[in-house]
Amino acid sequence: MASNDDERAPLLGEPVEQNLARDASLNGDAAKHDANRWRALRVRLITHGALIVLFIVALVLVLFFWDNVGRAIGALPKNPERAARRLLESAPVIDGHIDLPILVRSRYHNNVSAVDLNSQMPGHVDIPRLREGKVGGFFWSTYVGCPEESYEDDHYDFLNATWRVRDTLEQIDVSKLLITKYSDTFELALTSEDIKYTIRRGKIASLLGVEGGHQLGNSIAVLRQYQELGVRYVTLTHTCHNAFADSCGLQPGIKPKWGGLSKLGYALIREMNRIGVLVDLSHTSDDTARQALKYSKAPVIWSHSSARAVHNVPRNVPDDILELVGTGPNQTDAVVMVNFAPFFVADPGEANVQTVADHVEHIANVTGKAHVGLGSDFDGIGDVPEGLEDVSKYPALIAEMYRRGWDGFELAGLTGRNLLRVMEGAERVSKDLQRAGAEPAYDVYDQREDL
Ligand SMILES: [Zn+2]
Repeated sequence: MASNDDERAPLLGEPVEQNLARDASLNGDAAKHDANRWRALRVRLITHGALIVLFIVALVLVLFFWDNVGRAIGALPKNPERAARRLLESAPVIDGHIDLPILVRSRYHNNVSAVDLNSQMPGHVDIPRLREGKVGGFFWSTYVGCPEESYEDDHYDFLNATWRVRDTLEQIDVSKLLITKYSDTFELALTSEDIKYTIRRGKIASLLGVEGGHQLGNSIAVLRQYQELGVRYVTLTHTCHNAFADSCGLQPGIKPKWGGLSKLGYALIREMNRIGVLVDLSHTSDDTARQALKYSKAPVIWSHSSARAVHNVPRNVPDDILELVGTGPNQTDAVVMVNFAPFFVADPGEANVQTVADHVEHIANVTGKAHVGLGSDFDGIGDVPEGLEDVSKYPALIAEMYRRGWDGFELAGLTGRNLLRVMEGAERVSKDLQRAGAEPAYDVYDQREDL
């Protein structure tokens, strides 16, 4: 039986119980195997799922903080308005010419206590709008007018101009009083280094400029004293000729007196170079500009002038003079800071962001982008271009230049770096001249009989 059993065994297989037990064990293995497979699959699914979720979260974060990512790698956003604001955060506007002091003189009789720069001022400039426009610095123009009736500064001899020295001192005074009154916002800047330092601390660098040689009372000693008071540019003329140079006037056809610079004018430039006061060629005649460009050892500026080829008025700079600007042979380093005055920008009713941008573009095309800047003339102009109504609107112009293909580096040159380079150049020349022992200019105007 046993053998039968033995024989049967292969035929019948294991007893049912045994089979069941083995099946159970086999089933158990398969189930374990399946369970393991499921577990592995689940782990894989969870891992992949988690990776996908992480990836999506990272993508969302990158997109959400794209601006910050772009900022970290120095890229500007595509949107021109946002690009302009981003650019201006690190490269704020340094305007070559703002006439706030003359507005304070004419409206408030230089009584600084009556002026509230924290609220809306009647002109184009106050602190909230300066902040809105991302202004990092500007030249306060300490301007005193020319005689109204004449292109001559107090007759042919220019000897009666001393009250203009008084008034210029008053304009320097009122500028400094305002800078002090709002010392949380403004800080007097005397050097290019001062400007950078002030901007880094979030304040507005405040520079002083004298708008016309007629304010010097025909005396080079007065220039030296203005420099001591903090003045860092003198415009060689305003709309009148003076003892130093010819003006371009306002309308075409003004008759020159000197044919450009007078003998005293050359001495003035020599002294400006020596003491580090920038030669400003806005308002000058073309001959004055040509001669000054050739004679100045230091880089020069146009604090508020546009391009004559774009709009043909004498106050704008012609191409043949723009061609003398640069660092090549027979060229002088300079920055032409574009004026927003509608009368200089376009035909009546046509001045706007685009036409001002045309001036920037044209000057850059002739001189290179390293020689153009901004000199709005705000508070000195009755009318304003559409879209550039006050100091809060600079970002609109920067956005327009960005739209025209200017990159961040070029835009930062336009807003301030080009001016800083020119200032640094003038500071270097001044140091070199003084180190080399250059004597102060003792030239006396030859019409004077008192000295
Ligand atoms: Zn002017």
